Amino acid sequence: MMKKFKVSVVIPAYNEAENINPLLERLLPVLQPYNDYEVIFVDDGSQDNSLDVLERCHQENDKIHYVSFSRNFGHQYALRAGIEYASGDCVISMDADLQHPPELLTDMINQWQEGYDVVYTIRQDTQDAGILKKTTSYLFYKIFSFFSGLKLPQGTADFRLLDRKAANVLASMQEGNLFLRGMVFWMGFKQKAILYKAEKRFKGTSSYTLSKMVALAILGATSFSIKPLRVAIYLGLLIALFGGLFTAYVLYQKLFGGSVITGWASLMSVVLVLGGVQLFMMGIIGEYIGMIFMETKRRPKYIVQKTTILKQ
Ligand code: UDP
Ligand code: MG
Repeated sequence: MMKKFKVSVVIPAYNEAENINPLLERLLPVLQPYNDYEVIFVDDGSQDNSLDVLERCHQENDKIHYVSFSRNFGHQYALRAGIEYASGDCVISMDADLQHPPELLTDMINQWQEGYDVVYTIRQDTQDAGILKKTTSYLFYKIFSFFSGLKLPQGTADFRLLDRKAANVLASMQEGNLFLRGMVFWMGFKQKAILYKAEKRFKGTSSYTLSKMVALAILGATSFSIKPLRVAIYLGLLIALFGGLFTAYVLYQKLFGGSVITGWASLMSVVLVLGGVQLFMMGIIGEYIGMIFMETKRRPKYIVQKTTILKQ
């Protein structure tokens, strides 16, 4: 007996006018066999004519919807909005640039039907990625795993299926500093990984600049634990220990050694190292205070200016 269910596909799109139709050409045949589906594009304040393209798509096929932001709020917020607007029994998120092959959705839905609540994907290799992107992405997963204590597998992106109950959990999380990848792992449930080969971005260029990636990495490292703050305790203890030993040496020199005027080099290095360490730790503390500051404002996470679908 074929169970009836609805599939939601959520696609954040920022300046993807040239990719939307080629994506739909591959995606719709994959979704056709299912009883009911919806495709929700989240236009993240695109400056090109993405919105016009989406409007036309919606007029041709009323299963295709869009939610358009008043400005660019960022990929993570677009994803979150899509999950909030989606009404399917499962919610699949994917990129608009065809790097996430639509054909994989069949596999994801099958695994979900087998009883998994989260089906996430692991990128095998990226034809697109240069050495810089590969290295930063490697460091990113390492740093995140170290600080969060969550074993986020290398190469997981926001290409995954969420069961309705997992989607509800994500939509109910009120935090403003979004790092969905980590939150999905933190959440638990029955999770299953499937592997895929990432394709080349169809048109346009990646809008994840190095500075956006660094910001995401810092957010990932700091928003899941207070481990970075604890680094201050260990670092402080270590430096105090060295300080104690050095003081003993200085006292010994003063009492028994005679000359104590020499030592400009050691003095300078102590001042410089200590100054650096203190600034670094203040930066980390500042990062946390900044997050508290942002959270206390309780601003909306995104602002919708136009939509073809109502929030659930
Ligand atoms: N994206 C978005 N808002 C942004 C940047 C990107 O919604 O501010 C979307 C973009 O349209 C794409 C996905 O997020 O569907 C991934 O972005 P991109 O391809 O630029 O990143 P990369 O694949 O290089 O990580
Ligand atoms: Mg991409």
